[in-house]
Amino acid sequence: ENKITDVVVIGSGGAGLAAAIEAKDAGKEVIVVEKMPIIGGNTLRATGGLNAADTSVQAALGIEDSVESHYADTMKGGYEKNNPELVEVLTEQAADAIEWLINLGADLNDVGRMAGASQDRSHRPTGGAAVGPHLVQVLKESAEERGIEILTETTALEILAEDGVITGIIAKDKNNDEFTIEAKAVIVATGGFGANATMVTEYDSALDGFGTTNHSGATGDGITMSVAVGADLVDMVEIQTHPTVVPSNGYMITEAVRGNGAILINRDGQRFVNELETRDVVSEATLEQTGQTAFLFFDEGIKESLSAIEGYIRQGLTTEADSIEELAEALDMDAATLMATIEGYNSFVEDGEDRDFGRGDMPRALKTSKFYVIEVGPAVHHTMGGLKIDTRGQVLNSDGNVITGLYAAGEVTGGIHGGNRLGGNALTDLIVFGRLAGQSAGTDL
Ligand code: ADP
Repeated sequence: ENKITDVVVIGSGGAGLAAAIEAKDAGKEVIVVEKMPIIGGNTLRATGGLNAADTSVQAALGIEDSVESHYADTMKGGYEKNNPELVEVLTEQAADAIEWLINLGADLNDVGRMAGASQDRSHRPTGGAAVGPHLVQVLKESAEERGIEILTETTALEILAEDGVITGIIAKDKNNDEFTIEAKAVIVATGGFGANATMVTEYDSALDGFGTTNHSGATGDGITMSVAVGADLVDMVEIQTHPTVVPSNGYMITEAVRGNGAILINRDGQRFVNELETRDVVSEATLEQTGQTAFLFFDEGIKESLSAIEGYIRQGLTTEADSIEELAEALDMDAATLMATIEGYNSFVEDGEDRDFGRGDMPRALKTSKFYVIEVGPAVHHTMGGLKIDTRGQVLNSDGNVITGLYAAGEVTGGIHGGNRLGGNALTDLIVFGRLAGQSAGTDL
């Protein structure tokens, strides 16, 4: 059955839900369409945190940080290929995004370090619990409280335009019945294309055969649909692999494990990289090791610091032992080498200087039994490229002009993360630009 509304949001991940809430709070009628049976998309899988500087939470914890530092880290992490104006918006509005989420009921009271960050600024629930499911739950409840209609198992097929002005979408329901939703604004929040192997290899043939951490709905639909109404694309070749993914099942191990002190070792029992280097660097270094995978090594102290690790143990992803020697044996690794690696690293922690790889932050020595490893390797994780947007979240055409009525936010857009996204900046992106797109659509109508 055809519908009429003010704003249609395509996709119910973090970006789509944030956009829907803001558009509704601006007084507009909103319908969200979601092709999967569950809402939340890849956002549900986010386990790291939300990067923001100069927040009330940091202040309460005595962490001194600045928007300038967040900006500089993000540009450096992206090899300065990022669109500086979008990064300004990202970093300047991040603290407000945290307050907004807290007001909606989110717990973001734990702050940790992610790779490429010069300060602790990754906000996550108390105890380091997985942030994605928590935020999706909070946003979902907030959307429902506001009476926002979310149609699951409903796939957007086409964005409609008349004389260059957006007029709605064509969607199909779970019975494959097509219908039209007439709207004055369409917000594309369909996520990235990491689960579309054809599209991934079209832009980066080196990733042929790689697994992915993405949910199966991350197929780039929003990119294809928007290009059909004239949208321009940016940075499509920039595709990120995440270095710590369990090869047997694609399960992603959060970067926060390294952030809280874990190291990476190869099959010879040796470290081979600064574990807090950016994802591309750590991925590449791992592929150079025998077997093209590595072992993430941590002790009981790190396990206690991050509740996500309990989940990894429960799911049988870890190999554990009471001593380092026993662990080496279980891994068929030379015990003396492994011992020397751990002792060497612990002496670096003590001296505050990593003389082998220059790792900056070494929060914990590895000396409390039990000892654990998880085998990890790189898999396709985040597609940095996508729809070209302006600082209001409006989609641009190839002449650099806005397409009236078309907005986009989240992983479907490009330009924010440049050549490499920092861990913790995806959630910032979704919430900051999701809100912005919703607000812009709300005021433009
Ligand atoms: P972001 O992180 O940018 O918010 P997510 O991956 O979390 O992106 O969410 C995007 C959502 O959009 C997913 O739930 C996905 O299933 C949904 N989606 C993707 N393509 C379509 C489509 N054609 N129609 C409806 N929903 C879609």
